[in-house]
Amino acid sequence: MKLYNLKNHSEQVNFAKAVKLGLGQQQGLFFPVELPVIKPIQLLEMLKMDFITRSTEILSKFIYNEISKEKLYQNVKKAFLFKHPLKVKITKDINCFELFHGPTLAFKDFGARFMAQMILSLNKKNESVTILTATSGDTGAAVAHAFYKMKNVRVIILYPKGKISELQEKLFCTLGKNIRTISINGSFDDCQKLVKEAFNDKKLKESIGLNSANSINISRLLAQICYYFEAFSLIPEEKRNNLVIAVPCGNFGNLTAGLLAKSLGLPIKSFIACTNANDTVPRFLNDGKWNPKKTVSTISNAMDISQPNNWPRIEELFNRKKWDLKKLRFGSVSDKTTEKTLRELFELGYVSEPHAAIAYRLLRDQLKKGEFGLFLGTAHPAKFKNTVEKILKNKILLPDELRERINLPLLSHNINPDFNKLKQFLIEK
Ligand SMILES: *Cc1c(COP(=O)(O)O)cnc(C)c1O
Repeated sequence: MKLYNLKNHSEQVNFAKAVKLGLGQQQGLFFPVELPVIKPIQLLEMLKMDFITRSTEILSKFIYNEISKEKLYQNVKKAFLFKHPLKVKITKDINCFELFHGPTLAFKDFGARFMAQMILSLNKKNESVTILTATSGDTGAAVAHAFYKMKNVRVIILYPKGKISELQEKLFCTLGKNIRTISINGSFDDCQKLVKEAFNDKKLKESIGLNSANSINISRLLAQICYYFEAFSLIPEEKRNNLVIAVPCGNFGNLTAGLLAKSLGLPIKSFIACTNANDTVPRFLNDGKWNPKKTVSTISNAMDISQPNNWPRIEELFNRKKWDLKKLRFGSVSDKTTEKTLRELFELGYVSEPHAAIAYRLLRDQLKKGEFGLFLGTAHPAKFKNTVEKILKNKILLPDELRERINLPLLSHNINPDFNKLKQFLIEK
């Protein structure tokens, strides 16, 4: 698979290199040179396959010349070895597609776990690898669990001290073994800056085999294409021509994967790009002006992003496929409406959380007659226990994944946002 840098089309790399680099020169995103297409007859066959076999087929369309199908099947099996996505009926025309049954209870498990398998697989010489990443919550947990106990891999996760929820911290700072966590006396931006400094230090980078686990990594996107096919396979045949999928968006990786699924030939009628008050994209789709504002905090905090870094990929895809951006549906939902919608879902017998509630809201407002709607459940409500309990005035039970970690001691180190301190840690520990 060849990929080009969106900021400099002459920089082309293969899949292995793109996984390793994460970003190209000038922080440019990688995008596939060829967009494979599945013929309708083959699609029908694929829809009958089980999730792992079908996912292997899909991924192999992109990376067949770098990883054999047999090998890929084993990788996919290991990566997606947890309860599969679940379709839950909400109303006659609307279902939730729950993607949060992985080990860290958010859809990010799909991407992070597949990326881990790819890094392991593509590391042919068994060199030792250091994964360094900054997190504001969910990504850290997904990455830590994905690489947990992997040979030759050391994971170092930076997070802002006191700025992630207690449950989030327990989920990835109690693991130990090859997972090191460092709380930084500063903000998420400070953490990201430290990571950047480490990647800019060429000597350090080579001596410890520094590798990116960033959310813009192409392997994470490819993995996420697979569950859109699963969603499609689960809906009744008579509804398949009229499927609308609402996606809660932050960095817009999830939506990019959905659109890639469509470009492969999955006949999804329409997507709704759903945001909270951080509405750079809805405003852009409305008036054509790209005008990011300062990020505001909301109760759907995983979507508190005003400069979504996957957007250039979406624009490229629309250009390449000659699709009309005007056909992309969109909307933004305030915290107040999100709360109201969570209560509405609760009345319908469904306990949700703020991110999915935003998608449900826009879906139920925009669904046309004869259409069938799916909204993506991106995280388990227990991950946002305090918020959800306060809004619904109802207790949320902790699933086993959280319950078994809640009483374990935190193993994090703590440092000031000082690159020399981090460097010392990277070399010594
Ligand atoms: C990361 C995340 C999102 C946003 O996904 P993107 O791919 O960044 O658009 C939405 N909901 C939850 C719960 C998340 O963790």
